[in-house]
Amino acid sequence: MSESVVTLFESLVGAEPPQNAPVLFDTACVMGGSIAGLLAARVLSDRARKVVIVEPDDISAEAESRSGVPQDQQVHTLLPAGRLWIERWLPGVSQEAQDRGASLAGPDKQFVGYDDTLQAPDGVDHQFLAVGRPLLETLVRDRVTALPNVSVLRAQATGLRYGDGAVTGVRFAEAGTGDQGERAEGVLAADFVVDAMGRSSRLSNWLGQDGYDQPRLERLEARVNYATALFERPATFPELEVATVLQLFTPQYPSGGVSVAAATAVEGQQWLVMLMGYGDNRPGRTIDELRAQCAALPPIFSDITSGDVTREVVTYHQAESRRRHFTEAGRLPARLVGMGDAVASFNPVYGQGMSSAALHASCLASYLDSGADLDDAATEFFRLQEVVVDAAWAVSAGGDAARIDAENGTEVPEEVRRQRRAMEQIVGAALVDADVSGAFNNVSYMLRHPGTLFDPAILEKAAAATEKLRP
Ligand SMILES: Cc1cc2nc3c(=O)[nH]c(=O)nc-3n(C[C@H](O)[C@H](O)[C@H](O)COP(=O)(O)OP(=O)(O)OC[C@H]3O[C@@H](n4cnc5c(N)ncnc54)[C@H](O)[C@@H]3O)c2cc1C
Repeated sequence: MSESVVTLFESLVGAEPPQNAPVLFDTACVMGGSIAGLLAARVLSDRARKVVIVEPDDISAEAESRSGVPQDQQVHTLLPAGRLWIERWLPGVSQEAQDRGASLAGPDKQFVGYDDTLQAPDGVDHQFLAVGRPLLETLVRDRVTALPNVSVLRAQATGLRYGDGAVTGVRFAEAGTGDQGERAEGVLAADFVVDAMGRSSRLSNWLGQDGYDQPRLERLEARVNYATALFERPATFPELEVATVLQLFTPQYPSGGVSVAAATAVEGQQWLVMLMGYGDNRPGRTIDELRAQCAALPPIFSDITSGDVTREVVTYHQAESRRRHFTEAGRLPARLVGMGDAVASFNPVYGQGMSSAALHASCLASYLDSGADLDDAATEFFRLQEVVVDAAWAVSAGGDAARIDAENGTEVPEEVRRQRRAMEQIVGAALVDADVSGAFNNVSYMLRHPGTLFDPAILEKAAAATEKLRP
């Protein structure tokens, strides 16, 4: 693993807002007003006279759910890398979330383990924000849209306009504004455009239709089934804010097909409880089924689900992880980038999506700071972003590929087998060795590049711990 990739990743994680950055654009347009779009708008607000977010949902007020983000009822963990980035660029989100009843959970307030074996404490005060996704999005959005040069156009982006090999505008259809609910159409002139339309973004189709290259779409099967419900929080376990249990396999806790269980203490004195199964394993769709499955988990989960139900079970299915390889596309228009799930969307159980979006925003800030020629395709942006996507993909897709190969008994090359064995040792050793646990958490929380796990000192400790754990 190249040292420069590791260093570059860390500089993206730690990026600060610029001081007195020169204005580069008259109007920047961000297509999509969810987490990735909002963070892109925050970065562009330093660089454009005007930033217009084009979003079909009504995001003017706080809503419990919205159709453009169908996953928003599921548990959303904001990993430390994303939380710290958001705090630097949009200060006060964590505090306001806490003021509204969410919790900031340090290691002393977390139960994270395999079955009921807790991970070894790593001595680092990493904090998770335990908050419902709609509230988190509201807190981010309020800060971004309060910026004097950011506005929202309630419309669906329908295509791009070009001139001299660059994007010059975004075609849109307003969301049902006429007397008969007809949709007024128009073009918003823009001299920089961001695709943040999520995993079903149609940007690739538009590029193909308009004579540009379509970035190659890579897919990896990851059939995940989520079931999430909300419960009133009982007075028991007052110190606990986050509980996560992974890979339930010991005989005392028959998993019933549940591979991950997570609970976060969110606003309104509630537990948001999620069960996840792979493939044909679908967690319960009713409260009774969900409670029965929780009863087979470590006892803490029975307690967490013992309160009154405040929201019934909501399920979600996702079939695959996806990434689009923009760096391989030979011909792209200038002044166009993509961010967030529109570029890479992972198995959600790794909790990387929103933090990835934050690091993509860092890539955008760094690219705009670099003096790159904006009349060329944004190749340098996509190269930076590839460092972030590769890192997240290595963790989530790497884990999924290993699981699928093991299930199918697929022969894999010796090098891959060796890496997977090392990863297994690291995961096992993280339960008993503080240094390995720290290195593993830093990567899982997207604070450090996965290459740091293959440091010989960590590998040696992991191998030694594995030897000790051997029955
Ligand atoms: C079940 C599940 C659980 C997850 N858990 C976590 C977690 O624990 N932690 C984490 O960090 N991430 C998690 N994620 C991922 C996370 O939801 C996304 O990564 C995150 O929302 C960032 O997405 P985004 O802004 O790129 O896209 P999205 O949130 O999908 O938003 C896309 C936006 O684009 C808009 N849009 C769509 N079409 C158009 C158009 N034509 N014109 C204009 N706007 C348009 C939509 O209305 C929407 O606002 C989870 C995902 C799922 C599915």
